[in-house]
Amino acid sequence: MIAQIIPLVRLPRKFAHFDYLIAEGITLSVGDVVNIQFKHCETLGVVRGISKSTEQSKLSKVDRIAFKQLLTADDILRLEKIAGQIVQSPSSIFLATLNGIEQKMQQTTLVAGTQLGKIDAQTAGTIKLALQTLAKHDLCFETSLEGAIATVYSLCSRKNQQILILVPRERDAEIFSSYIPNQHAVLHGKTKQSQRRWILENWQSGKLQILIGTRQASLLPASNIGTIIIYDPDCPDHANSMRNPRFDARASSELLAKQHDAHRLFLGPLSRVEELGVNKIKSTIPPCQLVDLGNQMERTNSLLISDLLQKAIKEALQNKKSVLLSYNAKGVAKRLQCKACGHIPLCGTCGAQPHVRSGDLVCPVCKTEMWIPQICPACSKKTLGMKGIGNKKLATDLQKMFPQAHIGIIDKEHRYSSNASIILVTEFYFQSSYKPFPIDRFGLIAEICIDKSLGTDYLSSMTTAQRLYRILHMASVHKAKVIVQTWVPEIIKPMLDAEKFLKSESELRKAYQLPPFTDQFEIKEKADENIKVITCKHKDRDQLLKKLTSLPNTTTIKPTLSSYETQSSDNSE
Ligand SMILES: [Zn+2]
Ligand SMILES: [Zn+2]
Repeated sequence: MIAQIIPLVRLPRKFAHFDYLIAEGITLSVGDVVNIQFKHCETLGVVRGISKSTEQSKLSKVDRIAFKQLLTADDILRLEKIAGQIVQSPSSIFLATLNGIEQKMQQTTLVAGTQLGKIDAQTAGTIKLALQTLAKHDLCFETSLEGAIATVYSLCSRKNQQILILVPRERDAEIFSSYIPNQHAVLHGKTKQSQRRWILENWQSGKLQILIGTRQASLLPASNIGTIIIYDPDCPDHANSMRNPRFDARASSELLAKQHDAHRLFLGPLSRVEELGVNKIKSTIPPCQLVDLGNQMERTNSLLISDLLQKAIKEALQNKKSVLLSYNAKGVAKRLQCKACGHIPLCGTCGAQPHVRSGDLVCPVCKTEMWIPQICPACSKKTLGMKGIGNKKLATDLQKMFPQAHIGIIDKEHRYSSNASIILVTEFYFQSSYKPFPIDRFGLIAEICIDKSLGTDYLSSMTTAQRLYRILHMASVHKAKVIVQTWVPEIIKPMLDAEKFLKSESELRKAYQLPPFTDQFEIKEKADENIKVITCKHKDRDQLLKKLTSLPNTTTIKPTLSSYETQSSDNSE
């Protein structure tokens, strides 16, 4: 008999599996991991099928089983499907899945969290409702980090099936881990190889019941998953865009959920377009005061601190409350803005904020190209230019306004701000520094310029809306006032109605044939600087994949697929 084997080595995309002759006296099953000789090296391989005949002329023998049925036939189908969709050899996905299996066994890697957090009765009630819904359907629960932790906590305390918690970053995994008192394991980039093997075997056998992990955790064979939680579903770190295999844990979790008949729970500040049809429950959020920075009535001595914000800061400080000001001055797109009136020219076709290129503008949504205007369309002055105020300048302005206040900056370079009554933070704070269930609550949370994250690509408006809702949910936890400032209220204001925004965002993407209504593949030749983007309809994906598979391995293919299901209905028609 012949065994079809996927070697656990990195192979070019055109290779699938290899045939081996099964030695006399041993019985192999699909899903066994075996010791094989591959290209004169000893390695491991996964038996993906058994057949009677082969077209290969020279056959090596397989005579040793390393692990009996580590994978089921369904696991193999699932992993092969992912490999096919991201145009990689199955070997690369199987290698990523079984990473650590060749290591010596370690005793246990179980941990249990010891941190305690408190939520209010209203949030507790919403969580209860969310878990009832989740028992029957997939669910998007729009909530704060604290709400997410409390939901996972409640779910873990009443589990009777395996629970998988997928998080975008290592730090998120550690935070969730520290609040879950039930025994669980954590799997991320810094997990030791020997621990990976323990997790792999015990998750597969069902001895491990709760697993918190980053991307790789979405691939592992499991015993019986009841719920898959996807935390911060809009975070791009759920997908591996840097190196192969470039899979997206959100899409692979869909296949895993189907295989186990499990429900998925999306926990984040705002639902995505991808989950438009999924049931939704929201935590309550405080009202948001939106300030138009272009409004002359709001002018103060500082361009970025409106009269309303200045008064609110003063009030908070008088009440002995600290103030959180979010201002993302780093890593944001260049933008064209009038130095005199603050006007930002928008795309005349679809209304999005254009992306600034070297000599012109291009709309990231509808692809309209625009000249850079000579004069400001709003005030007719010749003052249109690239604009940027750093957070140090902003801190100086604030200090002048509030001479008594201690102003602290938290960003990649400045992490410490004890005693500061006004804390000026960048995106870094939310991703790497914020501690949930705060003891010292903020009295005021403000976004200095929410539109900073616009103008990068078609995802910019969703990214901006996610950030907007993140501070709204955070303000709810802190019982703080919220002020959001913007130069483009015409773009930001509609975001405050979450359902409407999601619907219009979805219509816009459909109209301009953007994901998730189409599939995109970024293609980059090794020697070439340029990236070519191929867009195709869902129904044409299979055909395109066939063509892409024949591309040489030196060509990088970066897929944007919201689902790995091949026969998905084509919504763009
Ligand atoms: Zn446009
Ligand atoms: Zn102007």
